[in-house]
Amino acid sequence: MIKILQTDITTLDVDAIVNAANSSLLGGGGVDGAIHRAAGPALLDACRPLGGCRTGDAKITPGFNLPANYVIHTVGPVWHGGEQGEAALLESAYRRSFEVALENNVSSIAFPAISAGVYGYPKQLAAEIALRVMRQYESQFREIIVACFSAADAQIYASML
Ligand code: ADP
Repeated sequence: MIKILQTDITTLDVDAIVNAANSSLLGGGGVDGAIHRAAGPALLDACRPLGGCRTGDAKITPGFNLPANYVIHTVGPVWHGGEQGEAALLESAYRRSFEVALENNVSSIAFPAISAGVYGYPKQLAAEIALRVMRQYESQFREIIVACFSAADAQIYASML
């Protein structure tokens, strides 16, 4: 089941939340900053030895003080106009997040709109990719949540479901 929620992803009591991280995995702004603040400093300590993460890949840590058991850190592409492999990289970020989730027996998972904030990916295009990959994995999860920060973002997804 795919659910669209307008919510702060850090509040969700799911097996795993996905973080739209940067490739250092050492914290940033946006949803990354919010997740690190809510999880506590142990999250950064857990990320340091991971040695970063390539764009389109994903790595997992515990959730520490979050209600979620795990954080799956993925790195989406920066939007450079769409001719630099952005779509394939964004699809890979979702796909790898799901694969890492399955390897860790995660059955409920929540995603932010990866790359659709500071990284500048057009929201509608990013949502199309997100939902396409989510549908491919839907049967393997109890619950897939799209955690939208704004009502406008939630509306974009809802109109596509
Ligand atoms: P990126 O660098 O991948 O673009 P951002 O963190 O800048 O990542 O933005 C990704 C999306 O996450 C944006 O739609 C932003 O509004 C949203 N966002 C920011 N904080 C939160 C939060 N606490 N919960 C859910 N979504 C959030």
